[in-house]
Amino acid sequence: MQSLERFIKELEESASPPAVATGAEVLSQYRRDGLREFRAYVAPEVVERVVVVYPEDTLQVSNVVKLANKLRVAVVPFGAGTGLMGGAMPLRDSVMVDMRRMNRCLHISRENRLVTAEAGITLEAVQAKLRTEGLMLGHDPWSLPRATLGGSISTNGMGYTAAGYGSIRRQVLGLEAVLPTGEVVETRPAEDSSVGPSLTQLLIGAEGTLGIITKATLRVHLLPERQSFLGYEFESFGEGFRAIQEMYQRRVIPTGLDFGEQPEGPSDPEAEYPSELFLMVEGLTEEVEAKVARITRISEANGGRRKDDSWALDFWQHRHDVIYLYEKVVRGEAKPWWGGEAVFDFVHFYIPSDRVLQFRKLSGQVLARHGVSLVEAGLWKQAELFSLAFLKPAESSLEETVRDVSGTVDELIQLCHGMGGSMEYCHGVGVKLAKHMVQEHGQAGLEALRRIKQALDPNNIMNPGKLY
Ligand SMILES: Cc1cc2nc3c(=O)[nH]c(=O)nc-3n(C[C@H](O)[C@H](O)[C@H](O)COP(=O)(O)OP(=O)(O)OC[C@H]3O[C@@H](n4cnc5c(N)ncnc54)[C@H](O)[C@@H]3O)c2cc1C
Repeated sequence: MQSLERFIKELEESASPPAVATGAEVLSQYRRDGLREFRAYVAPEVVERVVVVYPEDTLQVSNVVKLANKLRVAVVPFGAGTGLMGGAMPLRDSVMVDMRRMNRCLHISRENRLVTAEAGITLEAVQAKLRTEGLMLGHDPWSLPRATLGGSISTNGMGYTAAGYGSIRRQVLGLEAVLPTGEVVETRPAEDSSVGPSLTQLLIGAEGTLGIITKATLRVHLLPERQSFLGYEFESFGEGFRAIQEMYQRRVIPTGLDFGEQPEGPSDPEAEYPSELFLMVEGLTEEVEAKVARITRISEANGGRRKDDSWALDFWQHRHDVIYLYEKVVRGEAKPWWGGEAVFDFVHFYIPSDRVLQFRKLSGQVLARHGVSLVEAGLWKQAELFSLAFLKPAESSLEETVRDVSGTVDELIQLCHGMGGSMEYCHGVGVKLAKHMVQEHGQAGLEALRRIKQALDPNNIMNPGKLY
């Protein structure tokens, strides 16, 4: 790998170079993304230097990548750095391509129900532009105020309205991207086409390992005629789970669904706790009324008690608060809610619905065996998307606790794979889950992915060390 000095020198001598930043301060800013120190991951501290470039158009991205490929310098695409698996973390001295100056909304068509925007725009900015035209995005993650369009597509993110509109994969129609050799590809924005494997879909969820997305066209939706918010409480996780399972069996699908078994503070992972179900239904007035009536019947038949409607509305209005709190914690302006030194982590599995309750029980046993407390067991979007959040106070050293909880996560993932599940439904793989990719895809499957990577990125410059 040639030095970053030569990269900077040649870039500065090129025609219309992008802005560049370098130095110790820059390294501390880009060393970690959302995979913070309190998570169950031991970060290698081997990176000594990064150079950050801020391209303003696709040509500048292409020139940066061509030069990096010529000099065999690692390139890490960077959106807002809110990714939770270390996908935007440099693992060696690298050129960080910060996309946030490519933040224009290029075209909105109400007639065609689509938007085209540059990859560095935040989801919130796209949403604000769309609203002025009576339109909206179907992707609404907790991190919407900060996450970029390119970062969301590259992790195949999922948001609060995923029950209605799916993960972002289902909303992207076409893309423009710079491949690891610097060539620019543009895919046709078509929802359905039968013309071979989809390059668009290959780039979605690739976490910047196959190229840098510079532009995307997405399907958008007319603002709904009506929105209804409902809340239910159940005695146990099992009761609420069965209600959700029945809604999907009968195809009474809400737009947003969030279900959580929330003990008061960290608790015994093997015990069962009362659970709360948040639902949002939107669409045509008649459709919303019919769905709310059915959802009410199904929830109550499964032991649900309706909560005051203001609870659900409040939940909805504060759904993005966590990203602001997260930022304060990262800046050292607020303490994490658990106070003292502890390791806090989470997993988001896809488990076949007939095994979710058994998985809930067995995963509780794994947590208990490792002395890890349950913070929340939950479902998002549908009965199969099961998540756990957990905590272990650092009684000895933080490093030891990190290793301990990391071993717990490994065991939970093995359990998930053993029960026919998939290890992560919305945050990607990054560095944290890369070691489980063989179990996830099988040896032959992972080899096939590696060959695709090798063909597109022969010098392995694009986000090396991730996924494969
Ligand atoms: C408090 C909090 C709440 C969150 N809630 C959600 C949630 O509800 N749903 C959800 O899905 N995620 C959530 N996340 C995770 C994160 O916000 C998403 O993964 C988000 O999509 C990442 O966007 P970003 O712009 O920050 O990307 P980054 O973190 O900068 O990058 C993510 C990955 O994409 C690559 N990348 C970035 N831009 C490009 C590009 N233009 N081309 C190619 N590759 C690129 C990076 O190399 C990296 O591998 C949350 C994170 C936090 C901190």
